[in-house]
Amino acid sequence: MSWAEYLKDNITTAKELANLLHLSEQEEKSMAAILEKYPMSVTHYYLSLINFEDEDDPIRKMCIPAIGEEDESGSLDTSGEKENTVLEGMQHKYPQTAMILSTNQCAMYCRHCFRKRLVGMSDEEVASQIHPVIDYIRGHKEINNALLSGGDAFLNTTSVIEEYLRELTAIEHLHMIRFGTRVPVVFPQRITEDRELLEVLKRYGKKKQIYVVTHFNHPRELTKEALAAIEGLKEAGIVIRNQTVLLKGVNDNPDILAELLQKLTKHGINPYYVFQCRPVAGVKNQFQVPLQKAYRIVQEAKNRQNGHGKSFRFVFSHPTGKIEIIGVLPDGRMIFQYHQAKYPENRGKILIRDIKEDQTWLEEDL
Ligand code: SF4
Repeated sequence: MSWAEYLKDNITTAKELANLLHLSEQEEKSMAAILEKYPMSVTHYYLSLINFEDEDDPIRKMCIPAIGEEDESGSLDTSGEKENTVLEGMQHKYPQTAMILSTNQCAMYCRHCFRKRLVGMSDEEVASQIHPVIDYIRGHKEINNALLSGGDAFLNTTSVIEEYLRELTAIEHLHMIRFGTRVPVVFPQRITEDRELLEVLKRYGKKKQIYVVTHFNHPRELTKEALAAIEGLKEAGIVIRNQTVLLKGVNDNPDILAELLQKLTKHGINPYYVFQCRPVAGVKNQFQVPLQKAYRIVQEAKNRQNGHGKSFRFVFSHPTGKIEIIGVLPDGRMIFQYHQAKYPENRGKILIRDIKEDQTWLEEDL
């Protein structure tokens, strides 16, 4: 069975959910209403990681919709992606990085996704043609890396991935190419069962360094299947880094987060960022952890790491940049610092703000 055929078997409907979770008719109706707005798609592999005996199972929370998704407070574009879109399917927020929305498809639709507005739904923001994107990058010599994102960049066919790599590796001023993908976590078979993808990555990786930025959130996701996919990528010469989102009920516990970071480091998946969950509609009230508490959890987990495990930054994405959460002062004020800034005057800037105990985000315009 090809990987695309395997995905056709994903759990996608309220009816399937009702059978799986023994939902009442009313609950099934509520689920169907949620799925109209935010689709569901869960691979059988990821489903097999859930402990269905436990209603609060963290793996379940990341893939099975909850009634809380009806809560529309928050925004669908929390970091100003629209404003940074310079042409169809391409954002240019930081001078050195071109971000390409290469698809709106994912192997699984994470319930905490910050691009809920488009994954599995609208393809308006997605690059329908490669060449305009390539021409833009070619014309902007300040860009030294291209990030293929989505959706999930590894949900593109291998021939589309190869086309991107052929074009991007030929651009002299690009130093590296990054793929944003959760495939190693939710659908490792895309990598382990399709040697062609690894061969393509290996071939073009000899021209420019390729990075895979993946997204493990819980130590239970580091299964032997996921690790086999990681091993395949490493053997192909890919550097692997990980972004974790701090999620209430999933990894908002120093023991869990510390174990995740230790395991990632052990397996050569360098922790890159831990993200504060964004105030996304349908996500915010279910998954956000208050900033002060979040900082303490992350710091406690960080304290238990070796130097490599400590190399990540705890950040949040704001329309004006990526802002690192540096610490909490004894009087409760918090210190932040721009890690990446859209505007030159903000580079490295430090912010000190009063943050209430239950505050989950910096809502102000910066
Ligand atoms: S794989 Fe990434 S883009 Fe796709 S739903 Fe999950 S978090 Fe969103």
